[in-house]
Amino acid sequence: MAPTESSSEQGRRKQALALALAAHDASGRVTRIRIPRRDTGDDDVAIQILYCGICHSDLHTIKNDWRNAMYPVVPGHEIAGLVTEVGKNVSKFKVGDRVGVGCMVNTCQSCESCKDGLENYCSQIVFTYNSRDGDGAVTYGGYSDAVVVNERFVVRFPDGMPLDGGAPLLCAGISVYAPMKHHGLNAPGKSVGIVGLGGLGHVAVKFAKAFGMRVTVISTSPEKKEEAVEKLGADAFVVSSDADQMKHVHAPVSWAPQAQGKMILLGLPAKPVEISAFALVGGGKTLAGSCMGSIKDTQEMIDFAAKHGVTADIELVGAEDVDWAMERLAKGEVRYRFVIDVGNTLIAA
Ligand SMILES: [Zn+2]
Ligand SMILES: [Zn+2]
Repeated sequence: MAPTESSSEQGRRKQALALALAAHDASGRVTRIRIPRRDTGDDDVAIQILYCGICHSDLHTIKNDWRNAMYPVVPGHEIAGLVTEVGKNVSKFKVGDRVGVGCMVNTCQSCESCKDGLENYCSQIVFTYNSRDGDGAVTYGGYSDAVVVNERFVVRFPDGMPLDGGAPLLCAGISVYAPMKHHGLNAPGKSVGIVGLGGLGHVAVKFAKAFGMRVTVISTSPEKKEEAVEKLGADAFVVSSDADQMKHVHAPVSWAPQAQGKMILLGLPAKPVEISAFALVGGGKTLAGSCMGSIKDTQEMIDFAAKHGVTADIELVGAEDVDWAMERLAKGEVRYRFVIDVGNTLIAA
């Protein structure tokens, strides 16, 4: 159903209309539309969105690269803003609090994963956008001036954590923090190799250094060496196209990590990953995957980030510049995350 202010809305429960940027087809270009947002329920937090990061998933979704776009798509799952209203059962938040919302807005809350506090692996997960919520409505993300979310899926921004530079931590940050924690890498003296220095990679370097790890960045772009080492604090830099250099990598990287090393996949390349059984069996290596993180881990991650001064390196863009930002993102021309200045630029004409 297209969100409009037409008569199709009449007779339904009164819903607030929020301003949003939506893509309408695989061109991915966004325009301003009005979208329904549910009334603030007893367990809900209503949020005025001030900033929203632009994740690579947003680009894939609006271009329908994954063949699952439910247009109009309002992307955005790196949401930061202020609480404007809370439901009567809400205990964690009050009006005026600085808060964030990441990749998910609901789960079943009763399966094994949910009971184990790993609701990011719930099979009934409802993503922040382009997903169907319990009532069948398609979810709309953070390229919007407001959102209503169950308090369980809202994260508190600690003092000192900026809303703009902190917003990308809600996807990029937790996506790298959770696997480091769950695979026991978050300890001084451990070594990690980070493949790719983009939105996720650059915050991975920052978290790994904050944990006291030795960090090697593996990148296809030799020109990123200076940034990786001098600006982000990596200990070493390897050009992944250079077979000779790759031989000296001792961190669990490439398709042959060191003995008992772990390789954790976070990205979703279109081609299947090929790995020789010999490379994995010899040395007792582990191949793993990881996707986002739980809400508990997300809160822990952003508290840790505030304490250690970890934020994303961002380029702030206006709502009118999102198409341009997407083009640059597709070309890998951002250092390292675009964030939309929603509060100042996504305003009614
Ligand atoms: Zn994301
Ligand atoms: Zn579940």
